[in-house]
Amino acid sequence: MESRLVARGDAGFENLVRDLVWNGRKPTVVPKIIARPADVAGVVEALAVARRDQLPVGVRSGGHNWLGVCLRQDGMVIDLSALRQVEIAPDLSTARLGPGVTNDVLHTAVEEAGRAFPVGHCPSVGVGGYLLSGGFGWNSGEWGMAGERVRRVEVVTAAGEVLVVDEDHHPDLLWAACGAGMLFPAVATSFEVELATRPRHIEWATLVFGRDQTRAVADWFSTRQRQAPANVEAALRVHRDGRDGATRLEVTAVSFAGDRDQANHDLRPWTEPVGQVSPLSVTRTAGGVRDLFAVEDALHPVGARYATDNVQCDEPLPSLLDQLVVAMDRAPSHLSFIGTGVNPAGSSTAEGAFSVAMSTFAYPVAIWESAAGDGANDGWLRETMRRVPSARTSYIAETTPELHPGGVRDCFSAESWERLTRVRRQYDPAGLLNVAYVE
Ligand SMILES: Cc1cc2nc3c(=O)[nH]c(=O)nc-3n(C[C@H](O)[C@H](O)[C@H](O)COP(=O)(O)OP(=O)(O)OC[C@H]3O[C@@H](n4cnc5c(N)ncnc54)[C@H](O)[C@@H]3O)c2cc1C
Repeated sequence: MESRLVARGDAGFENLVRDLVWNGRKPTVVPKIIARPADVAGVVEALAVARRDQLPVGVRSGGHNWLGVCLRQDGMVIDLSALRQVEIAPDLSTARLGPGVTNDVLHTAVEEAGRAFPVGHCPSVGVGGYLLSGGFGWNSGEWGMAGERVRRVEVVTAAGEVLVVDEDHHPDLLWAACGAGMLFPAVATSFEVELATRPRHIEWATLVFGRDQTRAVADWFSTRQRQAPANVEAALRVHRDGRDGATRLEVTAVSFAGDRDQANHDLRPWTEPVGQVSPLSVTRTAGGVRDLFAVEDALHPVGARYATDNVQCDEPLPSLLDQLVVAMDRAPSHLSFIGTGVNPAGSSTAEGAFSVAMSTFAYPVAIWESAAGDGANDGWLRETMRRVPSARTSYIAETTPELHPGGVRDCFSAESWERLTRVRRQYDPAGLLNVAYVE
């Protein structure tokens, strides 16, 4: 195990720290030790060192938290990226996943088995942080949040105890595993998830509109989205066109269908707008989740600098969208965008710490290329978040707590926050693990 601990001062330590965080903008926080366990015993040993040396511990699976919260100043990072097994059960109903598995690896494995799973939109995100946050993936409307499909979790507690968590054993930890996100009070070393039925045909429509259409698009989109069947995932993105810098609205509706006829039926309301809105372009594409991943990858260039936040509120989309379009006009970087829509979790019945679904959501993503742009882009994000209603909550996977009046608490209902605080005290009384933003 000693050989898997890399300490400050060791060769290559700085590069290892940088690589732990996917965002091209790296936190200034410097840990003391990185532990890279190959198995559960390695996690137990790493935690023993942390307890002995009183090091605060951050856990890292795929490193995609935008703020790099796995890094603890003068603490330990337990990097679980080597725990990347995907084992599909012989009856194909469930899969056992290591936290270091990425969405693309998971998707490939379940697709090869003829099954499906609501994997996150971006291929390189780790399932550890994704599942623990609740997880909004492809076709969440039909398949539910990814975290709702977690049936069993194996964890190592701060005290070094290995526990199997399910409905009958440590149910409070199972509850926390769907939504506690970066506040989960143990190290999750594997997840058993329930798989879904694979759609036979996936097809999507993409419509682009000028900003002069904002009000009409907001009304049209809200109505269409409310009327769409659960297997149609619709999203609205406000962005600046790379060629002329003009603010545009892009609507995508994806049908996860049984066959081509069903997809045609699902997409007809989106592609035959009959005069109410006038798109600049309409395209139809048939493909697979891998093609959808490629669309997301193009929006998130590797190595770029990112800052993001999100809001879930009851503001109707039309009045919210007016504000977002004005915000987009002012974005210092043409790479940035704002995603918005009617909340797919609005009807969630998740039995978990995830507890903040409201009718509308929006998430500005500032993307820029060099450190010289940090101030302007941070300022834009702050200003954009000021434009959205103040009575609001946030999704923990993509929150910037310092931009919220209640900080990280704004990610939970009062009841969930109280329960999570209790669960954290019970399983980690000394507050060793995942303590970002609550210390
Ligand atoms: C480009 C991009 C696209 C995204 N798209 C989506 C999306 O479509 N849907 C969505 O829901 N979210 C999305 N997210 C958000 C993403 O789900 C969260 O940032 C998530 O936390 C990333 O998981 P990770 O394991 O890669 O991150 P990490 O940075 O490794 O983990 C984040 C935090 O979660 C906790 N944690 C992680 N693993 C464990 C574990 N095994 N045990 C205990 N605690 C743990 C730790 O506190 C850790 O610091 C996206 C993020 C990015 C950067």
